[in-house]
Amino acid sequence: MEKLKKIIRDVPDFPKPGIIFKDITPLLKDPQSFRDIIDAFAEQFKNKGIQKIVGIESRGFMFGAALAYQLGIGFIPVRKKGKLPWKTVSQSYDLEYGTDTVEMHADAVETGECVLVVDDLLATGGTAEAVNLLLKKQKAKVFGFAFVVELEFLKGREKLVHHNILSLVKF
Ligand code: AMP
Repeated sequence: MEKLKKIIRDVPDFPKPGIIFKDITPLLKDPQSFRDIIDAFAEQFKNKGIQKIVGIESRGFMFGAALAYQLGIGFIPVRKKGKLPWKTVSQSYDLEYGTDTVEMHADAVETGECVLVVDDLLATGGTAEAVNLLLKKQKAKVFGFAFVVELEFLKGREKLVHHNILSLVKF
């Protein structure tokens, strides 16, 4: 995982001043690194009764879809408001300034279905917490969360108590 840490690119002041953006595109471009990530997730989450992967737009789709394929289970996209074409359920959450909303299709998960949430990065945990609430509303069983990167100093993990949380690279 040290190799992964090195390959992730820091982009200062993106998308706004003061933010150091963790750019995972060099990692996606490197076939061995991409494979190492999916293999590590699959090893951790195989044979756990997980029935669907829930990927968070948009970088969660890249890792989540590959993991769903590897585990031989279905994939559910969670998107920003207004992107999904059919009937949706939604959950709003607070940002530093204002709010944002995540949505999924109303028939995406079955009652009691066991799901794993995947995203590229855990920062403050606001997004993952909103997805967790959305899934709870739909009566899914949230097995846990998988992230490629965790920014530990932002303490996002504290918003996701009582869950299995895996992050492969910690800063
Ligand atoms: P948060 O809700 O604060 O945990 O933010 C998580 C979401 O924002 C994830 O979907 C990340 O892709 C994105 N994100 C937040 N901070 C960063 C960062 N420093 N570098 C890259 N992506 C980030």
